Amino acid sequence: MNCKSKKDILSMSRTEIFEYIQTAQQPKYRADQIFEWLHLRKAENFDEFTNVPAQLIERLKDEFYIYSLNIEKMLVSRVDNTVKYVYTLQDGEVIEAATMDYKYGSGVCISTQAGCKMGCKFCASQNPGFVRNLTVSEMLSQIYSIERTIGGKASNITLMGIGEPLDNFDNTVKFAQIITDPKGRDFAGRKISISTCGLPERIDDLAKLKLPLKLSISLHAAFDSLREDIMPISRRFSLERVLESAKNYTKETGKRITFEYALINSINDSETDAKALLIKLKDIHCHLNLIPINKVEGKSFEPSSAEAAEKFKEIIQSGGISVTVRRTLGTDVNAACGQLRKAVKF
Ligand code: SAH
Repeated sequence: MNCKSKKDILSMSRTEIFEYIQTAQQPKYRADQIFEWLHLRKAENFDEFTNVPAQLIERLKDEFYIYSLNIEKMLVSRVDNTVKYVYTLQDGEVIEAATMDYKYGSGVCISTQAGCKMGCKFCASQNPGFVRNLTVSEMLSQIYSIERTIGGKASNITLMGIGEPLDNFDNTVKFAQIITDPKGRDFAGRKISISTCGLPERIDDLAKLKLPLKLSISLHAAFDSLREDIMPISRRFSLERVLESAKNYTKETGKRITFEYALINSINDSETDAKALLIKLKDIHCHLNLIPINKVEGKSFEPSSAEAAEKFKEIIQSGGISVTVRRTLGTDVNAACGQLRKAVKF
């Protein structure tokens, strides 16, 4: 499928295909036709391009390849129909994606890196370390392979699998631009959520682009000292700086921010934590998602009790902030938040 001397056409934007078509002295509308075959019809080889002349198809075959991921394994939850998809990439790296059934359709959660550098202590994805960024086509292909398999369309996309999307900034932005292109998959930007551990400079860069994307920021602590302990990357940025970038994002894009807060028994789930968090969030246009932490092999963190979660929620709600305790899906197949990992064990 891959060939080193050939170019990855699935990672090319419509503008880049258009530029190629111009240099190849072909009519302009061929660019849209090619883009449609790749992203709307999800063709896996050039011979499927029935409205493109044979000569151009031969040229495309000489210069490009169409990236396509094969699902190596599917693990279906017996509890809630969550499915975990495992892929082995061409260089042998293993990544995972997941689908979750919601009332309104299928949510697809994809990975953005092979491994992760951020080092969050409660997350499986940082083990065994970071290898590389995923390409645009590796991200798109997770969705396209799943849509082919389920015979339907994803209703929303979350970049919440393995990796830190804003640490793979250019490919993440290009992925979003390609999948929302009206001539291709035409996915609604407002149904795409990017989840970040909170890299303020990159959040500011994203805000400048004014894309219609939802942003989730993983907070998990209301105090710098605790956050630095459980999320080592945050030693580089204060909570105040992260929240300033969140505010800026809401201002630049008009979008509400979602904050993620994994409730960990006796670590970050006290009334003091809830009150401190409330003060920090009160003038930000936001929603808070509380998630009892999911168990990860080899980590000692325990989820908060239902009572502690409810109490935490009430305190936040009393300050007028929209808040939910999220149900977790797919824990029996290790497909829940923080359970996707680079090396898979069955
Ligand atoms: N790097 C990004 C996206 C990947 S993690 C980020 O940090 O946001 C996706 C979400 O799962 C994040 O909110 C992350 O903090 C959370 N998470 C990680 N481990 C978890 C666990 N064991 N239980 C619950 N949520 C977890």
